[in-house]
Amino acid sequence: MRVAVIAYDSCKPDKCGIECVRFCPINRSGSKAIELSQEASGKPVIYEETCIGCGICVKKCPFDAISIVNVPDNFEKEVIHRYGINGFELFGLPILKRDNIMGLLGKNGTGKTTILKILSGELIPNFGDLEHEPTPEKVLQRFKGKELYSYFSDLYNKKIKVVHKIQYIEYVSKLLKGEVGGLLKKVDERGKLDEVKSLLYMDSFWNKDVSTLSGGELQKTIVGAALLRSADVYAFDEPSSYLDVRERINLAKAIRELTKGKYVIVVDHDLIVLDYIADMISILYGEGGVYGKVSKTYSTRVGINSFIDGYLPAENMRIMDYKIEFYLKDITDLDVRKDVSEKLLWQRMTKALDSFSLVVEEGKAREGEIIGLLGPNGIGKTTFIRMIVGEIQPDTGVIFPQGLTLSYKPQRIVPNFEGTVREYLEQASKDILSTSSWFYEEVTRRLKLHKLLDSYVKNLSGGELQKLYVAAALAKDADVYLFDEPSSYLDVEERYVVAKAIKRITRERKSVTFLVDHDLAIHDYISDRIMVFSGIPGKEGHASSPLTLSKGMNMFLKGIGLTFRRDADTGRPRANKIGSYLDRLQRDRNEYYSM
Ligand code: ADP
Ligand code: ADP
Ligand code: SF4
Ligand code: SF4
Repeated sequence: MRVAVIAYDSCKPDKCGIECVRFCPINRSGSKAIELSQEASGKPVIYEETCIGCGICVKKCPFDAISIVNVPDNFEKEVIHRYGINGFELFGLPILKRDNIMGLLGKNGTGKTTILKILSGELIPNFGDLEHEPTPEKVLQRFKGKELYSYFSDLYNKKIKVVHKIQYIEYVSKLLKGEVGGLLKKVDERGKLDEVKSLLYMDSFWNKDVSTLSGGELQKTIVGAALLRSADVYAFDEPSSYLDVRERINLAKAIRELTKGKYVIVVDHDLIVLDYIADMISILYGEGGVYGKVSKTYSTRVGINSFIDGYLPAENMRIMDYKIEFYLKDITDLDVRKDVSEKLLWQRMTKALDSFSLVVEEGKAREGEIIGLLGPNGIGKTTFIRMIVGEIQPDTGVIFPQGLTLSYKPQRIVPNFEGTVREYLEQASKDILSTSSWFYEEVTRRLKLHKLLDSYVKNLSGGELQKLYVAAALAKDADVYLFDEPSSYLDVEERYVVAKAIKRITRERKSVTFLVDHDLAIHDYISDRIMVFSGIPGKEGHASSPLTLSKGMNMFLKGIGLTFRRDADTGRPRANKIGSYLDRLQRDRNEYYSM
């Protein structure tokens, strides 16, 4: 069967000569596979029954607006929802079980949020029938005799209640007013306020006003609020964004602890978190924005490993044409190149700011080098960079040279720009799109922003916004780049694409990039060396000199008291349960990050 999707935002019939309709061989033979239609406000619609999937319209469209994909015929009986004619199509649903946490893993735009909306009753699925209104009765009819029947029956008869933590927490923050503790007290339907406060370590910001919270504090507040509500089903869309590694593990524990006996579904792109939190995994595969298909249920380990391998054994399905590789390299291409000079160096530095003080050990960075900064939030990473580029002066210690320029991607990405993606990039660096074909190819196209150039920034998804902000930071020619958590809201594949773009630009411009990210796999992938920040957040920080990856990771994990092993089949890092045999063994050997 065929799925034909038209991105109507990109389609501009007044600017293209309507080549899609004119060149279609079915149309030319006198039949109709594609035509302009009032139903689509004068834009084309494709009739999937007559279209032969030749792909000519896809190639002819100058705005990349059409996607046509062949999917196996047996998907047809699993159609769950279609967003309008030539809209995204979802096949299959994950099967929730009480007291078993379901992890949902898959790339962006394949329907994860749609699934959470269906399972929480916010969206009634239409099973691809666009002629008639979808109703709960039709859904029950459809699932009669199936595992999901009793779930939907209870849901629609209001016998079960659902709490849904949405992905993009910036939207919630605008609606909340007041102090964290007071707000949470109001929603504490389960009488678990103290437990939530302590499991999520919320003491330090309990009395803060919500408008002043950092990203991580806001995330914990919103997850905490969900856990305090009395419900039978808890759905979490990307709960780990903005949290540091230790906080992610604490969050996983808190969710496990506080949802015993309930239905729980968690969407997340951090494989370490999903591994720790889920009892079973469903993988969502397909083509972003076109279609998504839910896999069978796998055990957590097999599910994650199959995803990494790009192949689902139980359904004999290849879902990616490559494998994700995990490896730790202590020697990078910079180390073996002879033509690399030093770009900057700093002496041991100290800085006192009101109630916060920072000590940074001496170090240097080479042209084109990427230095990963690991450490909790509020420990002085940004303060260090601001000293490097001369925005603030250290109390002691000297940096050489002075006057370096900085380009910065902040942690939190807020869509506070009125114009389009094109205008946003042009204001970051004038004429960058028209004068630099290299930037267009290496950044704009790779990050798939070329299809969004005329979209309004405020309508972008979290992942699209993140890619735009990374691209805008890369558009500026600077000596020093700082990327603060470029991986939040991105799927596993997009994280690697973004990492690669950062690396290319840094090497090409012989700049230095400092990368703050809590996804350890990203540092495995692009950081040349690691600086470890430790101490007491908000009070005192200590930064190490740049270290090799293995030394840096080991020091970092030792500092936060976690050990990681490597999965025997894929090499992916897995957090050991504290006190387990491997955890104790690795601690004894001082091997916190197993190689
Ligand atoms: P994910 O959570 O995996 O990123 P979503 O479920 O948010 O995916 O979206 C899947 C696809 O459905 C996207 O291409 C999105 O553009 C499309 N989509 C989502 N909501 C709507 C809607 N209300 N109308 C039309 N298309 C939608
Ligand atoms: P990180 O980047 O690791 O999250 P920062 O360097 O931004 O940490 O901040 C470290 C600490 O320094 C925080 O407690 C922050 O509130 C404090 N701080 C940052 N800038 C200033 C300043 N200009 N005056 C006083 N305190 C500051
Ligand atoms: Fe023009 Fe492409 Fe729209 Fe067809 S799909 S009308 S070629 S913009
Ligand atoms: Fe026509 Fe081919 Fe496009 Fe189908 S894929 S609408 S047959 S041009």
